[in-house]
Amino acid sequence: MRKKSLRFKNGNGFIVLFIVFVIILSALFIYLQKIDRDLRMHHQYRADLEEIILLDQQLDNVFLQKYQYLDYDAITGVTGRLEELFDGFVSQRIYERHADELSKLRSFFEKKRHLTEDFKSLNSRMTNAVHYMYDLRRSIKSTELNGLKKKTADEIFFQVTQLIMGIQIDREILQNNLMMLRSLVTEGCKCDYFLTQVSRFLKDFDVMQGYMAENHHIGFSDRLREVLSKLEHGHAEDIQKQKTVALLFFGMAFFVLLLLMVNYRKVIRATRELLAFRYAIENSDNIVLITDTNRNITYVNEAFEVHTGYKKDEVIGSQPNILKSDMMDKAFYAEMNATLEKGEKWQGELINRRKDGSLLYEKASISPIVVNGKIVQYLAIKLDITEYIEYQNRLKQSATVFENTQEGILILDEEKRIDSLNQAFLEMTDFDEKRLYKKPLEFFASEKHDATFYQRIWHTIAEDGEWSGKVYISRSNGEVIPIWLSLTTVYGNDQKIINYIAIYTDLSEVIRTQEKADFLAYHDSLTLLPNRAHFERYMQKLFEDKNLRNKVAVMFLDLDRFKVINDTLGHSVGDELLKEVSQRILEVIGDTFFLARLGGDEFVIVLDGVISQDTVSKYAEEILNHISQLMIVNQHQLSVSGSLGISLYPDHSDDPNTLIRYADSAMYSAKEQGKNTYAYYEEQLSLDVHSRLNIEQLLKVALENKEISLRYQPQYTLDTHEVIGAEVLVRWNNRLLGNVPPAEFIPIAEDTGMIIEIGYYIFEEACRTFMEWTRQGVSLQRVSLNLSSVQLGQHDFLEKIREIMEKTGIRGEKIEVELTERIFFEFSSSNLKLLNEFRKMGCEIAIDDFGTGYSSMSYLKDLPIDTVKIDKAFINELPTNIHDQKVVKAMIALSRSLGYKVIAEGIETEEQEALLCESRCDIGQGYYFSRPLDQYAFLEFLEVQKSKKK
Ligand code: C2E
Ligand code: MG
Ligand code: MG
Repeated sequence: MRKKSLRFKNGNGFIVLFIVFVIILSALFIYLQKIDRDLRMHHQYRADLEEIILLDQQLDNVFLQKYQYLDYDAITGVTGRLEELFDGFVSQRIYERHADELSKLRSFFEKKRHLTEDFKSLNSRMTNAVHYMYDLRRSIKSTELNGLKKKTADEIFFQVTQLIMGIQIDREILQNNLMMLRSLVTEGCKCDYFLTQVSRFLKDFDVMQGYMAENHHIGFSDRLREVLSKLEHGHAEDIQKQKTVALLFFGMAFFVLLLLMVNYRKVIRATRELLAFRYAIENSDNIVLITDTNRNITYVNEAFEVHTGYKKDEVIGSQPNILKSDMMDKAFYAEMNATLEKGEKWQGELINRRKDGSLLYEKASISPIVVNGKIVQYLAIKLDITEYIEYQNRLKQSATVFENTQEGILILDEEKRIDSLNQAFLEMTDFDEKRLYKKPLEFFASEKHDATFYQRIWHTIAEDGEWSGKVYISRSNGEVIPIWLSLTTVYGNDQKIINYIAIYTDLSEVIRTQEKADFLAYHDSLTLLPNRAHFERYMQKLFEDKNLRNKVAVMFLDLDRFKVINDTLGHSVGDELLKEVSQRILEVIGDTFFLARLGGDEFVIVLDGVISQDTVSKYAEEILNHISQLMIVNQHQLSVSGSLGISLYPDHSDDPNTLIRYADSAMYSAKEQGKNTYAYYEEQLSLDVHSRLNIEQLLKVALENKEISLRYQPQYTLDTHEVIGAEVLVRWNNRLLGNVPPAEFIPIAEDTGMIIEIGYYIFEEACRTFMEWTRQGVSLQRVSLNLSSVQLGQHDFLEKIREIMEKTGIRGEKIEVELTERIFFEFSSSNLKLLNEFRKMGCEIAIDDFGTGYSSMSYLKDLPIDTVKIDKAFINELPTNIHDQKVVKAMIALSRSLGYKVIAEGIETEEQEALLCESRCDIGQGYYFSRPLDQYAFLEFLEVQKSKKK
């Protein structure tokens, strides 16, 4: 379930590399600038040094001028310029590197300047001396000089001239000559001056020689050259160094550039990958959902929209739990969140809900996205597996159905041979499974079908893909059974046939029960004669024939005083008597005419196609005559008579229903006439209508005349005989009519609406009595009241009931209302709401006469009821009637399983009570325990019960 989460490293070195690259380039640029500056400085410096060398040569030239006239301004210009250049060096940065050389150079320059200054003054003196000597020599020539003197003087002059001209002379000879001349001249003469001048010149000459030697000795120019060469050398070295450094920079820049390019390619690739991912996510069939750390949705893809039904805009910003269904418990989500918060991947299956409310099954994997050790988002990738799950469920269901169904199922291969089959099929046919493998359907064919029967079936399947119909198959023992066979073709994706499925439904039971049901639906189970439904259908059919020409007589026969026989000799005698009567009627009418038993002791005979009323009368007489013959039933000699009412078509009516009604009222007329006779319908004699009108009139004033009273029939626990409640039953005693049973007057009261007023009276009276009993110390669980649907239909019914309850002070829990089954099924939902209101007030609801006619076992569970009252009709024949026994037991079991209380009413014998008790029925009510009693008799009854217990 858990895997490592996604971890993203911040590996984007691209920017860092780019910054390094820019720094390197900037440094390179600055360095090149510096090189450029150094170069220019170097050039300047070299130019300055070369100029110094040039200027120095000019100064050296000054020394070579010796005794010639010198241009002093030019010399001053040169030295000034030199000074300027040296001063310039100081301000230059390069001076620092060559400071030593330059200060030495400068000191040499200073020496040279001084020497030049000295030389300048010597030069001017010697230049003058040369001219003076020359002038003196010319002036002393004639007068003073003679002989040796002259020769010596000339010699000296010549030698001096040679000296001036720079020719090497023998200074000893000159000195000798000078001494000789000195010895020859007298003091103060011109020649003496000459000699002095020559001596001074010679001295200066030596000084000059000394200067020149010193200048030479200073060697300023050599040093300059030396510095220059050093400079060049240093420069060359610098250049080399700078080249190396620049190359290094360049190399680095190139390297970083390379890295950048590599990185760039990576980034491009990553970008492309991201785009591809995005495209893939957008177009993925999987649902992709991204949330931030607060679990707010930040992204969903198109598949999300398709599978959940939500639009992107609807969910962005909201939490994924909008999809939550109530199908997963809290612990599930807690476990999921715990996993995610640990930074681990979560995988599992989710059951969510789509926007339309339908379930969405998802296989999900949710990963925290971790950047630099921190969870920044959650990525959920989910696969919609709803179809798969549903398919699985269907498969499971199919498998269960296959094994557990009542139907026999065969799966045939494409060759139409048995591949697999279920247990039900084996039970149906009683074959051994091994024998059936790869057998064709024809294997089960019975002789009821001809040889081409199955061929025709397969032909239809080939055309329509399916076939269904009734077939007869042979079981392993040769018994032929009717089957409803459904054959279906199963196609694969490519429309190729994969299988055939054959479903066998055994019709034997269906046919049997169908026939039985058909028979029972239309026949009376006691006499096996057609019943009321059959009769009605028969009449309908008969009168559908528009060309009905013959007379038709409808005869209603009711036995006189049958109830007495029934009550005194018991039901079984009554039943036998009814069978005998039906037999006797049949003996009269044969099978040409129609006879039905409508219920109780009522029969109807239809004479269809008689010619005259006389014939009809003859039949009537004969029937009455025949049934009144003495008969022996269960050793009892009995004679019964009947009253027959007759209506005729077309004389009285051409409508079947009217004819039936007329025959019925004619029957009453016959009874009025003293029984054991027959009467034809006559309008004025419609007693039925009369008596009804009578009852209506008298009922109107019954309340006023205090003719209505109440009886209370105890309801008791079957096992301990403890009275727990009472059912309230209304009684009407009229001066003219006597005691009119509620079954007779209540329908009329309902039809006329009088039941409403009577109903409130009963309700109030019963509540009052109950409270009186309570005051007298009687504690009963409840009082049960019968309500009619007409009462419930009153819009202010509940209000009135509340009023009565308040007035009498009875609590809701003490009241149970009994409603007949019919009411529940005729009820609209608003009326059911009313019942719920009743329950809210604390009242309980019982379903009365349960099991009569509405066969509502299956609906029972949906009704808002507390108690089920099993109808007397089911108790009557207990315990002899096994069918009723079964039904009663089923009703009790079902009601109990639904949590309802069960009351059995109409318990008349000890055996009935014992059987019901054994069947776990809770409560009973009936003549056996107590008849309905008036208020006071009821109290007395309780007392007797109490004393019995003691
Ligand atoms: P129900 O509600 O099913 O009442 C039970 C009927 O069975 C009563 O008949 C009662 O006397 C009768 N009974 C009780 N135990 C036995 C027994 O052991 N053997 C026999 N043979 N019968 C027994 P009753 O009083 O004639 O009432 C007939 C029907 O009239 C009632 O059937 C009920 O539907 C209706 N009814 C009676 N009183 C009222 C009433 O106050 N209001 C309304 N709306 N209907 C009422
Ligand atoms: Mg009742
Ligand atoms: Mg009842």
